[in-house]
This record gives sequence, C-alpha cells and structure tokens, in this order.
Amino acid sequence: MSAGESPRVLVANRGEIAVRVIRAAHALGWEAVAVHSDADAEQLWVRLADEAVHIGPSPATKSYLDVDAVVQAALDSGCGYVHPGYGFLSERPEFARRVTDAGLVFVGPSAEVISSMGDKALARETAERAGVPVVPGSGVLDDVAQAREAAEELGFPVLVKAAAGGGGRGIRIVHSADELDDAVSTARAEASSAFGDGSVYLEKAIIDARHIEVQVLADDHGSVVHLFERDCSVQRRRQKLLEEAPAPGLDEGVREEMTAAAVRLTAEVGYRGAGTVEFLVTGDRCYFIEMNTRIQVEHPITEMITGVDLVAEQLRIAAGEPMSLAQEDIDVLGVALEMRINAEDPEQDFFPSPGDISRFDLPNGPGVRIDSGFVAGGRIPPFYDSLLAKVIVHGRDRPQALARARQALDELVVEGVVTTSSLHRSLIDDPDVQRGGVTTTWYEERADRP
Ligand code: ADP
Ligand code: ADP
Ligand code: MG
Repeated sequence: MSAGESPRVLVANRGEIAVRVIRAAHALGWEAVAVHSDADAEQLWVRLADEAVHIGPSPATKSYLDVDAVVQAALDSGCGYVHPGYGFLSERPEFARRVTDAGLVFVGPSAEVISSMGDKALARETAERAGVPVVPGSGVLDDVAQAREAAEELGFPVLVKAAAGGGGRGIRIVHSADELDDAVSTARAEASSAFGDGSVYLEKAIIDARHIEVQVLADDHGSVVHLFERDCSVQRRRQKLLEEAPAPGLDEGVREEMTAAAVRLTAEVGYRGAGTVEFLVTGDRCYFIEMNTRIQVEHPITEMITGVDLVAEQLRIAAGEPMSLAQEDIDVLGVALEMRINAEDPEQDFFPSPGDISRFDLPNGPGVRIDSGFVAGGRIPPFYDSLLAKVIVHGRDRPQALARARQALDELVVEGVVTTSSLHRSLIDDPDVQRGGVTTTWYEERADRP
C-alpha cells in the first residue's frame, strides 16, 4: 500500500458480517465500500461504509451472487481488496479467480485452495495425506453398485453427502441397504440442482458425536496458528443454533490432537487467511469432516476468549503483512457463547418472519457483545437468510457466561418480527446445556420429547 493512501476494501456481503468487516477495516484505518441490492438500499452497512454501490435487484442471484456486478463495483469504487464474508460468493473459486484476475486482492485463500477444500470428497483425501484422522467413508460414487459396496464395508447407518454441499444442506442419513439406492439417486439430483454438482460420497454416521471445530490463521510469511476450538453441537437440521468456546469438558489429549491436525492441514495446503477445520468428536476420538475456507458465523466467540480480532487479521494477511501474533501469544481466557437470533418463528417450524423491525432494544453490560446488521426502524427483507443478530457473551467461567446469556436474552426486545430468542432462553435453562457437552442430535431428540 502506498504511503498516505488508505487501503480500500469492497465488502461483498450484507447483514451483520458486512457491518463486522466495515468495523474491522475502520479500526485498521482502511476505507470500506459496501454493496447493496434494491431491498437493502437503506440498511446499516450502507450507512457505515465510506461509499456504497448498488449492485442489482433484490433476489440474491441478481445482486450478491452476481460475480460481474460485484467485481465491477470493486473496480468502479477504487477498491484494492474484496472481502467475501460468509455464504454468497465466499467459497466460489471462480469468484476468487475473477477478483484476482481484475488485479484486486481476494481476502482469503487462493482459488485453488478454495476448490480443493470446497469439494468435500477431495478435502477428505487431502486431510488424510496430511495425517488428519477423517470419518471412514468413500470417494465420490460413480454408481449405485459402488455405493452398496462402500456401505456394506462401512456398516449402517451411513450418510450420503454432496461433495459441494454446505450450510447443513445436501446430507441424508441411510439406515439400511434397502434405502440406499433411492437415497443416492435423490441426493445426486438434489445436489445437482442445489449446488450445480451432483457428486456424492458416503460417510459412516458417527453416533453421539459433538461438532467441534478449530479456528486457524495463516499468513504469507510461513506462520500458521490455531485459536483453539468452538463447540457447535447444538444444531437443528445440521444448522448451528448455539455455539461455545472453548468446548466444555473436552479431553485435553483430543484438544491437542485436533489443534495440531488443523494446523498440519492448513500448512499442507498452502492456506492463507482465516479458516475453520471441522471435526466430529466422540469419546477420545476425533474425525475431520470439512474445512471452511472463510470467516465463520461463530467467529466472535473465539475473539472473546482470545482477544484476537480475526477479521482485522484477515485484512492484514491479505495486505501481505505478517499476522500480529504467534502461537505462544494465544491464550484462552474464560468462556464465550453465541446465540444466533433469527427472524423465524420457532412455534411455526422456524418459518421465516421477515418484516419491519419496529422495536429493537439491545442488551448490554459486562461481557455482552451484539453483532447485528440491523437497527430499529429497519427491515428484514424476505430475500435472504434470517439472521437478525448474534448475541455473544463472555464470562470468567461457564456459570458466569450462562448467567450473562440469560440476562442478555431477557433484555433483548424485538417487535415487528418474530425471533428465536425464546428458544435460546429455553436452551440456556436446559440442564443438559448447563452441564455442557451435548451431541449434534441432542436438540432434535429434545424437541421430540413429550
Ligand atoms: P458457519 O459454520 O459459518 O455457520 P454455515 O455452514 O452455517 O457456516 O454457513 C454460513 C452461511 O453460509 C449460512 O448463511 C449458510 O446458509 C451459507 N452457506 C454455506 N455453504 C453454502 C452453500 N454451499 N450453499 C449455500 N449457502 C451456503
Ligand atoms: P456442511 O458443509 O453442510 O456444514 P458438514 O459436513 O460440516 O456439512 O456437516 C454438518 C453437520 O452434519 C455436522 O455438524 C454434523 O452435525 C452432521 N454430520 C456431518 N457428517 C456427519 C457424520 N459422518 N456423522 C454424523 N453426523 C455428521
Ligand atoms: Mg460444516
């Protein structure tokens, strides 16, 4: 970057993560340019940015997913960097390539690394080569006969997973051989229409597992560090509801094995930036499931326990600077929880509840952080995901963090849209959550209780 001129980053996203990236940019003295669709013309991130570019109509395919429009916005507004956030174009190798070809810096790993990890079947092979324990499974299946053979070898239940899947979609469980043929062909058809790639593979279903993931950072100067783990086992339909760092009661040996494996994999692939290596953990065994080559929704809990600004590190690394910390500088202090408050009605099978936010009273006080893309008087448009706010709390220990979570949820008042806040209140009060260490099927089994 030339002296006297601030770097400028295009924030190729919307909602809370757009706000988060703008804040990190400003904290570093960078300028930030927002993008928005028709529906988002007056949203918070548009106001907070130094400049905002209208990139198209409301449907995401015509705006936030339009590669041409986003790259043109970066060029027109004089940006040198593009931050993709999460979701949307963040894990599309062709987007990273287009950004780079336009002479701009993509805030994230190379297009090659994104593709090698974006194909989950290929990522498993890479992980194995790096000596990372993976869930027993198959390669991409050519036909149903191959699926049968692989399933017999693995033993039921197995999961059919889309190689290009993400966001909890493209996974189905198969309990017995007679369900397999149908499951594989349906999964293929669905994957091809949802992700534009019908490749599927099998994994042994790990029963009674916790979802535990390791945050990593890597720079262009040869440093790779981990920032410990997050427990994201409270899930509904394989989507995270409540996250905690560090993972409560985790065996110290498993923690060491996972963090070392995550660092090995990150180094092996020549990674750059922030990434997350996801594992399933049962007893003292851990198994790699995938790597997400982007900032994660739940990154703030890692920031709360380590004091590291992960998004600022992403920008620094993209600018070719060494990251600001070494492994020995990273310590864990206390416990953090994140509750994803969605504009959805938990009483109506989580049906989306978009609309005008007429009242939005935010909690605050010691150890409370809110990341939201919205303000009172604003609106949740029906076109995108329904994340309204992330309520993040930090405490010296679990009891304090849980007490702060309860208090924060009690202070949160939202009117105009229905939210999942009441669900979170009941999760925090649940004895199993208070004890810590629930498994990925816990929530759905709980919901089924009479
Ligand atoms: P995180 O662990 O960061 O929450 P998720 O897998 O829940 O990651 O995805 C984060 C966001 O990205 C969500 O909004 C999710 O819907 C979206 N997303 C992730 N992968 C895909 C994909 N392959 N296709 C569509 N949306 C995706
Ligand atoms: P996505 O790309 O959609 O995030 P993941 O592979 O990360 O998909 O899996 C999402 C969730 O599905 C996991 O957190 C876990 O709850 C469940 N899952 C995935 N693989 C397995 C497995 N082999 N056994 C049991 N559960 C699994
Ligand atoms: Mg995942």
